[in-house]
Amino acid sequence: MSTEKYVYMDQAATTRISDRALRAMMPCFTEDFGNPSSLHGAGRDAEAAVEQARARIAACFHAEPSEIFFTSGGSEADNWAIRQAAALGAKKGKRHLISSAFEHHAVLHTLEALEKDGFEVTLLPVHENGLVRPEELEAALREDTALVTVMYVNNEVGTVQPVEELGRICREKGVLFHTDTVQAAGHLPIDVKAQNIDMMSLSAHKFHGPKGVGALYVRKGIALGNLIYGGGQERGRRAGTENVPAIAGMAAALEESLEDREAKNARTRAMQRRLMDAILQIPCTRLNGDRDRRVPGNLNFCFEGIEGESLLLYLDLEGICASSGSACTSGSLEPSHVLLALGLPAEVAHGSLRLSFDETNSEADADRVLEKLPGVVERLRSMSPVWKEQHADQQSFGEKRE
Ligand SMILES: *Cc1c(COP(=O)(O)O)cnc(C)c1O
Repeated sequence: MSTEKYVYMDQAATTRISDRALRAMMPCFTEDFGNPSSLHGAGRDAEAAVEQARARIAACFHAEPSEIFFTSGGSEADNWAIRQAAALGAKKGKRHLISSAFEHHAVLHTLEALEKDGFEVTLLPVHENGLVRPEELEAALREDTALVTVMYVNNEVGTVQPVEELGRICREKGVLFHTDTVQAAGHLPIDVKAQNIDMMSLSAHKFHGPKGVGALYVRKGIALGNLIYGGGQERGRRAGTENVPAIAGMAAALEESLEDREAKNARTRAMQRRLMDAILQIPCTRLNGDRDRRVPGNLNFCFEGIEGESLLLYLDLEGICASSGSACTSGSLEPSHVLLALGLPAEVAHGSLRLSFDETNSEADADRVLEKLPGVVERLRSMSPVWKEQHADQQSFGEKRE
């Protein structure tokens, strides 16, 4: 499997569907096209495909099939979990929600909407290393806290949160714990029971499955209300005719992702180290997020004196697909809320570059990036009057920040 048309280093934005996932989807468009709710053979076959996928996905996380609810993707799963957990809390007079400052907008904007409805939101700091501190969660919990939602892996800087510990703290206090695992699923082992996870959001297109499908895991016993009303699909919890091909593709992609995961991660980790060591040789460059506690396939840098947008444009001209942060915020000239949460000044956060890669990237991809990137950075800096003025004396980035 390759994406030869480009050097594709934007796997955190989306991935190419795997051949195996695509093959699993095809029959659901053709011979098994039935509506799972129909009471005839065609319907039963489609229903069997959905239920088989549900069981296989559940098994990947040590969950039970009845705890998996299919959605249209990660955003819907986040909205559903947070809105309905808040509603559950409100019934008991609990109107306080806790999250982190650098969540995906599917989480942050849902929380903002709830704030307008009278909920109170505490955002935990993520500090310079991009990590939530468990003791700060402990201190933020209140009698009226209804929900804690902290992402497993940040989509921009790749840092891995201490989910198991955050979950344990919530479990001890009887507070619901949701985690957005969109960037973790298929990349890191997840065990909902061992990690004290009450709810988690998944999205297939981040692990070589199709776009437009995801799932919400809801631990048995949590009476989460509906987000979408209508028919009785998903045991009455999420209406709408199931996206059968996508659901079948998601199960196949997830299983494939997790096969030989350790070996794939070791390979990706080696590419990460190689890229990181070489890119940090570029003067006045810093790595964003903790050096070690990050997923193997993420690197995020700031190049002082450069606009992230121009950098992407020049890399694009070389056939290199990268990102300045999340795909949802690029296109706007706002600096990334994630990098601001890490404490970077706005003008520095503007010069960011996210490279996200995985086992489907070749060493030739890394070669190409290392061949082109330093020159592009140098060219852009040579065109920047601010850079020239500030760096007549070539200070290092680190010294300047002290
Ligand atoms: C991509 C992403 C989402 C959104 O998932 P969609 O399926 O695209 O809606 C949510 N959270 C994180 C962390 C993501 O990376």
